[in-house]
Amino acid sequence: MTTATETKTDAFLSEVDQFSAHNYHPLPVVLERGEGSWVWDVDGNRYLDMLSAYSALNQGHRHPDIIAAAVEQLGLLTLTSRAFHNDLMGPFLKALCEATGFEKALPMNTGAEAVETAIKMVRKWGYKVKGVAEGKAEIIVCENNFHGRTTTIVGFSSEAQYKDGFGPFTPGFVEIPYGDADALAAAINENTVGFLVEPLQGEGGVVVPPEGYLAKARELCSAQHVAFIADEIQTGLGRTGRLFCCDWEGVRPDILIVGKALGGGVYPVSAAISDSEFMDVYTPGDHGSTFGGNPLGAAVGLASLRVVIEEKLSQRSDELGSWFMSELRALESPHVEEVRGQGLMVGVVIKESSGTARPFCEALHARGILAKETHHQVIRFAPPLTISREDLEFALKQAREVLT
Ligand SMILES: *Cc1c(COP(=O)(O)O)cnc(C)c1O
Repeated sequence: MTTATETKTDAFLSEVDQFSAHNYHPLPVVLERGEGSWVWDVDGNRYLDMLSAYSALNQGHRHPDIIAAAVEQLGLLTLTSRAFHNDLMGPFLKALCEATGFEKALPMNTGAEAVETAIKMVRKWGYKVKGVAEGKAEIIVCENNFHGRTTTIVGFSSEAQYKDGFGPFTPGFVEIPYGDADALAAAINENTVGFLVEPLQGEGGVVVPPEGYLAKARELCSAQHVAFIADEIQTGLGRTGRLFCCDWEGVRPDILIVGKALGGGVYPVSAAISDSEFMDVYTPGDHGSTFGGNPLGAAVGLASLRVVIEEKLSQRSDELGSWFMSELRALESPHVEEVRGQGLMVGVVIKESSGTARPFCEALHARGILAKETHHQVIRFAPPLTISREDLEFALKQAREVLT
């Protein structure tokens, strides 16, 4: 029974607590509507979304062009499976290849699936093209990485909790420190097929590598015939102030992985993108996904990509992000160790002596700002890239009150 003092929020929270796995620790807010950078909860409170679903909402909530594309496609055809063709997959992949400068793209749904697609692609390339001995292929990954949650992917995570209780894991991965090009040089051997890296670590706490790292890593990979695989699922599509974070150092990966904002916050759409040298190792039956490349996802993906490009979201992210970060630094908060990031991917690192980031996120929640801590000490600010300067000013005002 609902008592008079119990809010709608409380009722939803206890329902989820009862019927769902406890694999998340969300803020206690139950949302029912969203528009642009704002969301509303079931009790009528309004919040500024400063997380944007881990950068899956770069275009904001319910962008009208993306919704229109989805609605139109809902009235026509939603799923064919890859047993047949549909008339949206080609146009979508062509646009994706044109935007990224690659020859081919393989559509998937979630980010983890696109990462798996890249892993399989580069292993097979290693055996069939590079000539690595069967069963010996190695992929180099970085400490503090986040590439998703499948058993293979968590197997090469350095986060103990992601792995605890889930082994045995897939072999063939070698871990090196992030941001250390010398460590990469030392780790490459004749069996190395790929180097899988986030150009900026998002889940790892908004960690920006030293300047020149990506370019140096690219050079090392080229020299040793190792595929440079950039996981831009979170950093891509304008988030860091460039279309892709690798663009900051003029680096073109061999395999580019995208997801999150490719679905415009409407539908899961991801892809592994490369030139034919890599993509063509896949032959019929090698790999697949029932929903990958479906016409609804393709229509949404096409519209989502268009919005990023036509609304110049990378440039907005660069300009607003630079301003926002400098304002946050100017607060000179006694609790803040460092403000770091690129574009509108900003991490505010809380000093250990001030406790964890969680209470700060809770205080922001009480003031109408939704942000989430990552890695205990970091408040991540990653609003929709469509956010207005006035709304960012509101966020800054609340951050000022909470942090000083
Ligand atoms: C979110 C994320 C993934 C996983 O994407 P899912 O859609 O959750 O499977 C992989 N890599 C990075 C860098 C991410 O941020």
